[in-house]
Amino acid sequence: MPAISRYATPEGLPEVDVRTLKRSGSLRPGTSAVLTKRYAGQIVCEVTATMQADCDEVLISFGDRMAFVGLVYTPQRLGGRRAWFLCPCCKRRAAILYPFVCRRCSGITYPSQREAPHHRAIRKAQKLRIRLGGSGNMMEPLPPRPWGMWDRTYRQRIDACRRADARSLTGMSEVLQRWQDASDPKRPPV
Ligand SMILES: [Zn+2]
Repeated sequence: MPAISRYATPEGLPEVDVRTLKRSGSLRPGTSAVLTKRYAGQIVCEVTATMQADCDEVLISFGDRMAFVGLVYTPQRLGGRRAWFLCPCCKRRAAILYPFVCRRCSGITYPSQREAPHHRAIRKAQKLRIRLGGSGNMMEPLPPRPWGMWDRTYRQRIDACRRADARSLTGMSEVLQRWQDASDPKRPPV
């Protein structure tokens, strides 16, 4: 399983780029790729993509969520074909998923524009964890009290971390729910 490091856009949000999978040779049947993203120098998320046998679906997993996403191919002018994800939400072609649906469906606009509230919450939660000496990885437990920090300050910051964690998880669940509602009930996320 090749590990692909990506020094990411400042958001540090989970994403899967089909072109990265292609470059790393991970668009062959049965191959898996681990895509990592960093924020403030720390790995903050890992997304695994596993190509299915017929190359018409890829299994994407992030945290404890997994989902099959369709792939389509378009011919290229100079020969060969270009792979695209088929966004499970809007059924449009997409080169990048965040990490299960396209930019539009995930609520991300562009960096300079307004971002979705749950993405803002994820970034805030990551920043708070890093400020407390943690890694910023949302999958890890909250960091212990740094040496020299007042207990009251620590408790206030941990409370802020928990609130930001909860907001980001709620937002992410809402996005997944909207997508599940819109997608084929025979093929729900596993
Ligand atoms: Zn979409």
